[in-house]
Amino acid sequence: MAASEKLQDQSTKQTKDERGTWFQGASSECTDALRPSVAPWRLVLLGAPGVGKGTQAYLLNQRLKACHLSTGDLFRAASKQSECELSPAMKSAMDHMRRGELVPDATVWEMVRERAACIRCSGGFVLDGFPRTLGQAESLKELMASEEIRLTAVVNYELPLAEIVARLSGRRTCEKCKAVFHITGQPPKVEGVCDRCGGKLFQREDDRPESIKVRMAAYESSTAPLIKFYQSLGLLLSVAATGTPDEICAHTISALVARTGVAAPV
Ligand SMILES: [Zn+2]
Repeated sequence: MAASEKLQDQSTKQTKDERGTWFQGASSECTDALRPSVAPWRLVLLGAPGVGKGTQAYLLNQRLKACHLSTGDLFRAASKQSECELSPAMKSAMDHMRRGELVPDATVWEMVRERAACIRCSGGFVLDGFPRTLGQAESLKELMASEEIRLTAVVNYELPLAEIVARLSGRRTCEKCKAVFHITGQPPKVEGVCDRCGGKLFQREDDRPESIKVRMAAYESSTAPLIKFYQSLGLLLSVAATGTPDEICAHTISALVARTGVAAPV
């Protein structure tokens, strides 16, 4: 967990520069759109909270130099002041989030459509946090079909429930600065005390085992139709999310190479 938390942190910091295509607004251009490429990989990542999907999206994006489109990054940023220029759909999404509302499907879809250039980019893409519903998956399929491109695969990160509970229930958050630690993966120097600000560490309600089980059940019932959909299209690729983040990333790439029959586009 330590490494992934750190990566998560890094990836949040990097969203303002080279990575977070979504933050750069509708006018942003893909940095390597003209890169002559072997068939680019266009991936959707699925995985329950706690499997390290965000970290894998970050690592895959680094290796493949693809566009990383993460709705989660955007949603996380909603609570912070953002000086970036926001596109109309992003502004609308932020407004919903600041009011504590769910972002409507139509707005999420509008955000994806504003990034259509990334969807058709010759560098490929890694979609993380989208699609979340069957309707969104169908819309994505139509958009891609109209661009005459297709998904390479939908990578589904899997981890036994007990392991997810162990990972998430070990998290401790600082009351003051919100820094996140892990009792075994990334322990603070002094038990119960934040390394950064000396604040008191506590376990968020969300990270209690009972809450985790409820969240997991909700995740599974909402994701089941998506899994079925991609399975029926022959796109689903399950990868065990065990090992270090680098090991999981290596497994992902070798599974994709085996699936596509071509070398990784790096
Ligand atoms: Zn702190």
